[in-house]
Amino acid sequence: MARSLDDLLAEGVSGRRVLVRADLNVPLDKQTRAITDDGRIRASLPTLQALREAGARVVVAAHLGRPKGAPDPKYSLAPVAARLGELLGTEVPLAADVAGDDAVARAGALGDGDVLLLENVRFEAAETSKDDAERGALADRLAALADVYVDDAFGAVHRKHASVYDVALRLPHVAGRLVAAELEVLTRLTTDPERPYVVVLGGSKVSDKLAVIEALLPKVDRLLVGGGMCFTFLAAQGHGVGTSLLEADQVDTCRRLLAEAGERIVLPVDVVAASAFSADAETSVVEVDAIPDDRMGLDVGPRTVEAFGRELADARTVFWNGPMGVFELAPFQAGTRGVAEAVAAVDGLSVVGGGDSAAAVRQLGLDESAYGHISTGGGASLEYLEGRELPGLTVLADRGEG
Ligand code: ADP
Ligand code: MG
Repeated sequence: MARSLDDLLAEGVSGRRVLVRADLNVPLDKQTRAITDDGRIRASLPTLQALREAGARVVVAAHLGRPKGAPDPKYSLAPVAARLGELLGTEVPLAADVAGDDAVARAGALGDGDVLLLENVRFEAAETSKDDAERGALADRLAALADVYVDDAFGAVHRKHASVYDVALRLPHVAGRLVAAELEVLTRLTTDPERPYVVVLGGSKVSDKLAVIEALLPKVDRLLVGGGMCFTFLAAQGHGVGTSLLEADQVDTCRRLLAEAGERIVLPVDVVAASAFSADAETSVVEVDAIPDDRMGLDVGPRTVEAFGRELADARTVFWNGPMGVFELAPFQAGTRGVAEAVAAVDGLSVVGGGDSAAAVRQLGLDESAYGHISTGGGASLEYLEGRELPGLTVLADRGEG
């Protein structure tokens, strides 16, 4: 087990510089750059507050979106620094670079309890490089900013990135409060879950989630598939899917999974078919065997919501990842809302995982406290459930003393 934040606090951090890798990858409005859901910033507060109160000089590293390995104002963490400052009740300056001259100067000037945010770590191509030496060089510069490393970026622990993995090889390190809390829940899902155990998957990309489906099928009682990914399964069943999202190269795999898992995979029976990917498109509810060639399925239909609700009604353990439809657009929200409500009503452990799924719960005004846990990490929680080794966690478990 990794050492905990409490171990570090017990050791004393007053006056020490602590590098915290946080997950502040929040969705921004495309036009205004305003934060549309600050859930991940709020989830990072417990660790940051505890460190501040203990007198640490806190340097926060984080990424935002997928810039191309170079500075790009579109992906600046400036809006995040402002929001983080509001939530912490203190000024959070943003360094002009990741670990360059400005970051070094500002980190050196921190007082006890101060917080500095580094600019988007993905402005450095080395952050995500496959080359150990390239990542190592950036990790050296990041490590030089601090005396201790705290990994609290649960949403990034499945990435072998410089600020997640390599920096932990260079500094004494502990897991932050968020990482610890996420792991506790995932352990409950993987260790003898109470049955029936139902997993609900949606979202946009089937190829991202096929490995999870494969790994989970033997463990779950039922797997409900909605969202954009259901169309590849529907195609595998021989249905025409019109202009819906389809990953043609995955159809054979979906066909095999359906053959192997039989009734345990539950697919939509109807969908909301739209004339375009737009809030003012023409829409109609159609059966899955009658999707018009020129229409795209952008949500599951009402009969599907009912059917999924029945499958969830007696569940004792539920993991839900991926919206059922394009919930960002009002005409395609009902499926996600219906399933979210059914998951919330579960008598047992209900876990929502995934950035967009968590954002959907909040955006649709659903009661967050109705869920056992809302995870900040989509890919990370899925890979954990798959049983894959997560580099960011492995490296914390090793060499805890640094
Ligand atoms: P999460 O972040 O919760 O893991 P994903 O990133 O996999 O979820 O997918 C979220 C995206 O999937 C949302 O932006 C949503 O609009 C999109 N989506 C859901 N259903 C469809 C669909 N039928 N067609 C296209 N996109 C969809
Ligand atoms: Mg997502």
